[in-house]
Amino acid sequence: MKCHACNKGILSQKTKPQVYTYKGKSITLEQPGLWCDSCEEGILNGEDIAKTEKAFDEFKSKIDGLLRPEEIRHIRKDVLKLSQEEAGRIFGGGKNGFSRYERGEIRPLPAVSNLLKLLERHPEDLKYFFDKHKTA
Ligand SMILES: [Zn+2]
Repeated sequence: MKCHACNKGILSQKTKPQVYTYKGKSITLEQPGLWCDSCEEGILNGEDIAKTEKAFDEFKSKIDGLLRPEEIRHIRKDVLKLSQEEAGRIFGGGKNGFSRYERGEIRPLPAVSNLLKLLERHPEDLKYFFDKHKTA
């Protein structure tokens, strides 16, 4: 496929390092797409964008100080020993909230992320949520 931007190069499916910036910080990701071999032109479809979206989202989480998907899963499952549904009841985000956080589909609110970080350091405090629930 001929490139319409330069009319010289050929577009072909490959990956190309692209710089993505968030709040003044940059990350270079291997972006798949149809790239021109002569100029900077590239055509990205939804699938191509989805391939770097997750990595870019994790980068944004790190800059915002939010937990990464695998950290959320670790704290919920290994530290607090909660099911995804229980965690959704305690921290909000709905029944599928944690499943979506842990797959990296959505990012938790800072409040959720910060509460999980606190509980990771003081897991025994989790009992207050349950005790309160029982006596109420
Ligand atoms: Zn071109």
